[in-house]
Amino acid sequence: MNNEQLVRKNGIVIAIDGPAGAGKSTTARLVAKQMGYLYLDTGAMYRAVGLAALQQGVDPDDADGVTALCSALNIAFETRDGQLQTLLNDKNISDAIRSSKISQAASRVAVHPGVRDVLVALQRTMGRDGGIVLEGRDTGTAIFPDAELKIFLVADPAERARRRLRDLEKRGESAKFESLLEEIRIRDIRDRQTQLRRGAWPASDAICVDTTGLSIAEQVDRIVALAHRQNRA
Ligand code: C5P
Repeated sequence: MNNEQLVRKNGIVIAIDGPAGAGKSTTARLVAKQMGYLYLDTGAMYRAVGLAALQQGVDPDDADGVTALCSALNIAFETRDGQLQTLLNDKNISDAIRSSKISQAASRVAVHPGVRDVLVALQRTMGRDGGIVLEGRDTGTAIFPDAELKIFLVADPAERARRRLRDLEKRGESAKFESLLEEIRIRDIRDRQTQLRRGAWPASDAICVDTTGLSIAEQVDRIVALAHRQNRA
């Protein structure tokens, strides 16, 4: 653990975890911006695998099929025109991976240990030198159990469904609040089981931040203050 900390020449590792719709993405992106850190959206990588499976006719529940597919994919991030884009085999898939269909596919492919092993190895390499905010379910447990700051964001399911609805509407997708709430419940159960199979979740040393009723700015300020405190320690 100490060896790993020694090579973190760019700053600390901040892991932001929590269930679907808790505000992880927006918060993590803004925390990274304020800290001058890299931002890694680990969920986008599972979404890329889910999209690839659907595109190539591989059943998301087929562990061997999806694992083989995943090992052959090239998933990368790149900033183009000031926007962070997710690339799958050099193609920009940032918008394509945000639909409800891909959310469910991502959660299904994420169940397979082979898929997780491939993606976790990639995520560890990306964050090796520190100075990074990682966002996603296992960032503080499987990817960086020794992250210097672990945040677990939570919010009421209804609040999370309302946020998803706003996100989808902004993208021009229509959805019903009740179905989004149901989708969130299904994903919560599946994601929790996936994480618990791999060990304790959330990490016992994670700081829980309830974002129900908090503004994004308040969430970000709270986490940045904790990060500065950790940096000084
Ligand atoms: O965070 P996001 O909603 O984009 O993640 C999509 C899905 O990918 C999650 O529902 C979860 O099943 C999976 N995931 C995961 N581990 C991560 C990030 C996401 O299992 N680190």
